[in-house]
Amino acid sequence: MSVRMRVTKGHTGNRRSHHKIKLPRLSKCSNCGAYHIRHRVCPECGYYRGKQVIDVVALAEKQAKKAQAQQEESQSNEVGEDSKDDANKDDKDQESK
Ligand SMILES: [Zn+2]
Repeated sequence: MSVRMRVTKGHTGNRRSHHKIKLPRLSKCSNCGAYHIRHRVCPECGYYRGKQVIDVVALAEKQAKKAQAQQEESQSNEVGEDSKDDANKDDKDQESK
């Protein structure tokens, strides 16, 4: 005996009609006027409820440095296949400069 509840396309569509994702609630930053997600720190200036929480400039510089370091690392890995040989890598860097 097989009991099978047929779910029609209409039923599926009706159920899924509520699955649409709503846009996140955006609010204006009190400091710089940029839009940010509610109850989150402003990504533009790092302010939350009128106070600076994150030093955005320092963070950006830090991330840029990190990205640069990673780029250089990947480049050196591409040039010299033996990345473990540090002495050899240093010699190559000096030659290029
Ligand atoms: Zn802001």
